[in-house]
Amino acid sequence: MATINDNYLKLKAGYLFPEIARRVNTFVEGNPEAKIIKLGIGDVTEPLPEACRTAMIKAVEDMGDRSTFKGYGPEQGYGWLREKIAAQDFQARGCDIDASEIFVSDGAKCDTGNILDIFGKNNKIAVTDPVYPVYVDTNVMAGHTGETNDKGEYDGLVYLPISAENNFIADIPTEKVDLIYLCFPNNPTGATATKAYLKAWVDYAKANDSIIFFDAAYEAFITDDSLPHSIYEIEGAKDCALEFRSFSKNAGFTGTRCAFTVVPKQLTAKASDGSEVELWKLWNRRQSTKFNGVSYIVQRGAEAVYSEAGKAQIKALVDFYLENAKIICDKLKSAGFEVYGGVNAPYIWLKTPHDLSSWDFFDKLLQTTNVVGTPGSGFGAAGEGYFRISAFNSRNNVEEAMKRITEQFKV
Ligand SMILES: *Cc1c(COP(=O)(O)O)cnc(C)c1O
Repeated sequence: MATINDNYLKLKAGYLFPEIARRVNTFVEGNPEAKIIKLGIGDVTEPLPEACRTAMIKAVEDMGDRSTFKGYGPEQGYGWLREKIAAQDFQARGCDIDASEIFVSDGAKCDTGNILDIFGKNNKIAVTDPVYPVYVDTNVMAGHTGETNDKGEYDGLVYLPISAENNFIADIPTEKVDLIYLCFPNNPTGATATKAYLKAWVDYAKANDSIIFFDAAYEAFITDDSLPHSIYEIEGAKDCALEFRSFSKNAGFTGTRCAFTVVPKQLTAKASDGSEVELWKLWNRRQSTKFNGVSYIVQRGAEAVYSEAGKAQIKALVDFYLENAKIICDKLKSAGFEVYGGVNAPYIWLKTPHDLSSWDFFDKLLQTTNVVGTPGSGFGAAGEGYFRISAFNSRNNVEEAMKRITEQFKV
């Protein structure tokens, strides 16, 4: 009989969102008249910007004419898109990133998982706790961990706890790790990183020959000019960091699919014979072999993000979600909650009142207000006692949810 990748059996079976759905369904069965408002899942709700739609419609027409039809495109993405990304997202911010270092893909989620293909089996890997679960689960699948302990932590990973005590900013480890996942602005806590903090990580990585995986999926939500949008704004980062970006959260591409990963040419890691190998070459080879590029139509849609009209529309979209976040923060604070994030980020991270567990608070909020959020413990053991509320929703839903919480929920 064929055998399986046993590592998959170590995964805690997709517990968080199915369990949320189970509890909501049970509640609705007993309370069929309840009007549930979901502020849980981190998916966008507002339509695609007009500039992107117009560009995609035009691209569909291109595909209908022999002279402009496109078959397979470059696995790394079309040059016209990579040039705009390099110029506007990086060079305009003083980052010396070349278009050839940009790899266009169909998602930052898959890139953060796939990147492990080009790394060895014996790296020491650090993640924050709580964390975007994809970083952990993809390492489990790749066989980089052991089993879980009773707190749900995988043997072999280094967990860097983040909580109100350290402002949701992990301490730089005292031990040596090889790969570090950082996400700023952060999902789930909404925390941001200053240049000084990222500099400390870059210094650590250079001193320890480590590689930083920097996930900047939410960089568009940064409104504070002093905060870096890219890790390459930090001197030396090109020697030690990869960066993941996505059009999902800035331009509403969660259902359209386009993202990119930056792999600087000078970034290297060690082969088992001790030689230093360029990661760019390996990732280029990996993508050319296992990936056939993003559709021409979608890449034209992504290109429109960089047009004058596109930039204005994307700013309006991001501002809309940020205003939701501000409404949520203000209302929750006025109701007596201890609230974090929600500024420069679309997520609000609150401390559960009266030391309720994350799931007990979930149930209480659902029962008293019919509002659904995400238990912090679902993002890691150190998320226990916290709760995530997403600003990705209509203004009506946000206002109605906050009205119910301020009027009905006793902190
Ligand atoms: C939403 C999100 C992404 C983007 O994923 P896509 O696959 O590009 O949609 C990446 N990282 C984090 C932390 C996210 O929350």
